[in-house]
Amino acid sequence: MTDCLFCKMVAGEIRPDVVYEDDAVLAFRDINPQAPTHVLVVPRTHIATINDLEPSHAELVGRLYLAAREVARREGLAERGYRTVMNCNAEAGQTVFHLHLHVLGGRPMKWPPG
Ligand code: 5GP
Ligand code: ZN
Repeated sequence: MTDCLFCKMVAGEIRPDVVYEDDAVLAFRDINPQAPTHVLVVPRTHIATINDLEPSHAELVGRLYLAAREVARREGLAERGYRTVMNCNAEAGQTVFHLHLHVLGGRPMKWPPG
């Protein structure tokens, strides 16, 4: 997807503040952080929303969470706690239509979320 912001980051056309990467995912700091640590974990493959997931993506989705685990460890959040969020479509507040897992931590989180 040539007009997708996160595809451009995966392709190296835009270089975000990367905190972790492997063959399946790229993880970088959110430009508008909502917590002391706010990292986005994105698959290298373009998938627009959760609604576009197929059974063949099952391993990739697992890789997003394994990357989130590693980000939390590196950021010192593993024991104290952190939140992962994946918004889907307008009412959830999705603004970038390339699947991404938010990793938020470094402050107490409220429930229910806003
Ligand atoms: P969504 O609202 O789709 O769940 O999350 C999109 C996230 O992408 C937002 O938290 C927003 O701050 C972040 N974002 C949007 N544009 C950029 C950018 O150019 N660079 C980075 N690092 N994050 C961005
Ligand atoms: Zn994309």
